[in-house]
Amino acid sequence: MKMIKRLNLLALFAALAIGTPTLRADDAPKATDSQKDAKKDAEAKPFPAAKCLISGESLTSMGKPYVMVYEGQELKFCCKDCVKDFSKDKTAYMKKLEEAEAKATPYPMKKCVVSGEAFGQEKPYVFAYEGQQVKLCCKDCLKDFKKDPAKYMKKIEVASKAEK
Ligand SMILES: [Zn+2]
Ligand SMILES: [Zn+2]
Repeated sequence: MKMIKRLNLLALFAALAIGTPTLRADDAPKATDSQKDAKKDAEAKPFPAAKCLISGESLTSMGKPYVMVYEGQELKFCCKDCVKDFSKDKTAYMKKLEEAEAKATPYPMKKCVVSGEAFGQEKPYVFAYEGQQVKLCCKDCLKDFKKDPAKYMKKIEVASKAEK
């Protein structure tokens, strides 16, 4: 009995020893790529609208939105077909994006929604998210905002209701 158990253990160790390096070799390049992408995504300016700027449809109308980063700007499309239209005329699209950002509901708070700090001498970091303008005390706060946009959007919503 003991002998069999030991053999089983040996087989298990052997499987682990063979299995682990193979897994790592496969995963390593992918992990590095996604880390790079994650960093790029964390720094990109958020997409300002809740709609696809090509089709005018809700971003979730075709399931998961198609997300990409173009020149430091996050772009969201309802589907891949709309990405094709974007590629045909990027200038016109970026103009639409600017307009969407300008049309956003003004930010209602006098402090950064992430840090809670009042805006100081430095220019706040301004963008729009789902039609709502957001001001942060610095670009560092953007990383926190992106971790849980719903949480901060709720705070902004509460603040704008309190103002009315
Ligand atoms: Zn689409
Ligand atoms: Zn900040």
